This record gives sequence, structure tokens and C-alpha cells, in this order.
Amino acid sequence: MEKQRERVRQQRMVIVVSPFHGHISPMIHLATFLHSKGFSITIVHPHFNSPDPLSHPEFTFLAIPDKLSESGISNWDLEGIAVTLNRNCAAPLLNSVEQMLLQNPDENIVGIIYDTAVFFAQSVADHLKVTGIAVRTSAAARILAFPVFPSPHGEGYISSQDYISDDGLQDPQSVSTKQLLASLPANPNNSIELRIALIREIKKASAIIVNTIDFLEQEALAVIREHFAPSIFAIGPLHKLAPTGSASRLKEDSSCISWLNKQAPKSVVYVSFGSLAAMDGEELVNMAWGLANSDQPFLWVVRPGSVRGSEWIESLPKTFHERVGERGKIVRWAPQKIVLEHSAVGAFWSHCGWNSTLESISEGVPLLCRPFFGDQMLNSGYICNMWKVGLELEKGKIAEGIRRLMKDEEGMEIRKRAMDLKEKTEACLREGGSTITSFNEFSKQILG
Ligand code: UDP
Repeated sequence: MEKQRERVRQQRMVIVVSPFHGHISPMIHLATFLHSKGFSITIVHPHFNSPDPLSHPEFTFLAIPDKLSESGISNWDLEGIAVTLNRNCAAPLLNSVEQMLLQNPDENIVGIIYDTAVFFAQSVADHLKVTGIAVRTSAAARILAFPVFPSPHGEGYISSQDYISDDGLQDPQSVSTKQLLASLPANPNNSIELRIALIREIKKASAIIVNTIDFLEQEALAVIREHFAPSIFAIGPLHKLAPTGSASRLKEDSSCISWLNKQAPKSVVYVSFGSLAAMDGEELVNMAWGLANSDQPFLWVVRPGSVRGSEWIESLPKTFHERVGERGKIVRWAPQKIVLEHSAVGAFWSHCGWNSTLESISEGVPLLCRPFFGDQMLNSGYICNMWKVGLELEKGKIAEGIRRLMKDEEGMEIRKRAMDLKEKTEACLREGGSTITSFNEFSKQILG
């Protein structure tokens, strides 16, 4: 056994991450899991928004130049950043891996695992003739929103949600994945080149790992398996497979845990809109009064810079702070996974990022949904309409929405379903459960 471990220890996985917090974190969990199986890990990342190497001394971190412009970065132009990285980073990645091989000739690179957002890594895997493995860090269904096809009328493109037939997606009991995808406001004529390149590259991968759970997205996974040649492995939620700190440079304020310790069980509304979403000052003030009027205790993350035109919460009136007193706690960044595990938390008012969605489901915490953009719309549809473990928060009805979820009979059903999902998730992570089985299958088929 020890000998076998020794042998594997010389096997290295190169893991290429996209420079966004919600993307880095699941890749670090995957890396931690593979490390626990005996692989050596090199994390390759662009200079921009680089992870903190000190948080994971067991890995080697390697920065590659990204040539991102100051304006692209300061405007958080997500599409522009993706285009630039995929245009510029293949050569530096190849160079870094070749250097690594020269310095450690005994080492064997088993594969290059990359976030689909940095799909340039597939061409490097092809060049080096090593296994390329793509990882989707958001919902499986989101993959279906990327392919585009020339319109039959010769004008522009149509999206895959219009192209993929309804067959097999017509379960009258549930909202179909196709309906959810159709609700995405994506214009099929936007980001065409990026979308075409992404799909072309990930189709060349030996496997696609998705940070999802089989029972959550059975329909979508079935459609993807039909349309994509690489084997698809649903190996989520990654944060439960390998619990570990993130490599984020955002500093967590742990004082909120001692505050949570003083609150009644399942009484607290936890509020956080993730690492990217931004709102205007009016929304911040409306949220504040909604929370104040709900009469529930709340823990609210307001990320510095997330309120346009403000540093932090200076625009909140004194009367709000006086009204709320100790009942409310506002922090800049929280240890979210620990917060959601806490017995005092009764609901999560979320932007519905995929990590937040999985983290909430894993702890049986029902959600109040306020999606902002991109896949958050799809995730909110899943939460409210498909899994029915949350409610969409209507503008101007915040206190009412909180009461509906936390006090009303309607909310009781939702809370019960959220606890059911937690149990199902735990079952998937046990020996014989879908996630563990899927990982074992991945190991056998891909890692050999
Ligand atoms: N998160 C955190 N502390 C906070 C807010 C968020 O640790 O105060 C983490 C959260 O646990 C999740 C990630 O940030 O893992 C956010 O990812 P998600 O996909 O939900 O949203 P994104 O930031 O990509 O929009």
C-alpha cells in the first residue's frame, strides 16, 4: 500500500484555474481531494487575482503572464478577461510545464485539469500528449447554454436551447432544463467566437468533471452526455468531498461566528451576494429596511466595492442602525461554509452563485433568491421552480418574503424539502453514493 502511494506520489497533476473566486475555490477543493489520493499538485494561475500560495503549502503554485489590460480588470469585463486569457496564456503555460519537466525529469504529468473558462489549456495538453480534463465549476445545464449554431435562415446564430430537441425533457412533474435555459437572457449572437472556441476545445478533453450532484441535474446531464463525446463525471459538491480553506485573498471576519453562537436555532437570515455582484445605493438601503422590518436576526455580508459609488455601508442611515442594534451583524466577508453549517442559520438570501447554491443545499438551508446575471438566473430557476427549496424575493416585499419562508406554512414545506436535499447530498457522498461512484469511475477510466 505504502509502496503504491510512493509510486503515485511521483505523479503530478497540473491544475489550471480561472482568476475568479467562485472558480478558484472548487478547483482548490478538487486539488485537495486529488492530493489526498497521492497526486502531487501544481496550480497554474494567471497573475491577475492570483490565489494565496501560503494557504496551501502542500501545492506548488505557478503564475503565468496574462497580458490583461488595466481597464479590462478595473471594469470587471468578464468576457473581455476570458477572451484575453484564452488568447494569451497557452504559450506561457506550455513554457512553464516544459520547464517543470526539465527540472524534474523523474516526474510524470498525469494530466492537465482546467476550468472550462480557461480552455486554452486543452491545446497545451494536446501538444504535450497528456490527458486534458475540463472542469465545469457551475451547473451542468450551463454547458448547454454555450453551443451556438448558424441560424437556418442564414442570419446570425441560434443557441443550443433552441436547437436541442425537447425529447426526454418533458417530465410533466417538473420544469424542464430546457425551460430554465430558455429563461436565460443570453443573446445567441453575443460572444460567438468565445463560445465556439470553448465548446470546440472542451469536446477534445478526455473527460469533463462537473461540480454538481447527479440527482440535482439528471435531465441536463443526460442531454450533455448525448451531445458531448468526452465522458461526463458529476463529482460534486466538491467542497464536501474535500473540505479545506479557500485560497482566496479576501479576509474572512470570524467575529460573526461568536455572534451566531448567541442566536436562537434557525432564526438568522444570512445575506451574501458572492464575490462579483454589484448593486446601487438604493438597493442597499431597501435591503437594510427589509431586514429591519422582518424582525429576524440577520448576518449580512456587504463586500467592499459591491455598492456602486460607495466604499462600504456609509450610505445606511443612522436610524437603521438604531432600529436594528445587536439583532443585525454586518461584515465585509464571512467564512460562508462555516456560517451555513451553523445551527442558528435559518435562511440564505443569496445571489444564487453556483457555489453558494451547493453550499446551502448541502446544509439544508432554504434560499431567498436575488439573481444578478449569467448562470445565477438558471440557478434561481432550479432553486425556486425545480427543487422548490427557495423563494424568489420580490422587489419591495423583502420583509414579507423573509416571513413567508421562515414562519409561514408555505415556508415549512420549503424548509422540509431543503432538509431532504441535505440528506440526499450526504447519501451521495457515502461509499456507493453517486458522487463517490462517479469519482471511482473517473479514476478507473481516466487516471488508469
Ligand atoms: N463566500 C465566502 N464569504 C462570503 C461570501 C462568499 O466565503 O462572505 C464564498 C462562498 O462560500 C462561495 C463563493 O464565495 O464559495 C462565491 O461563489 P458563488 O459561485 O456563490 O458566487 P460568485 O462569487 O462566483 O458570484
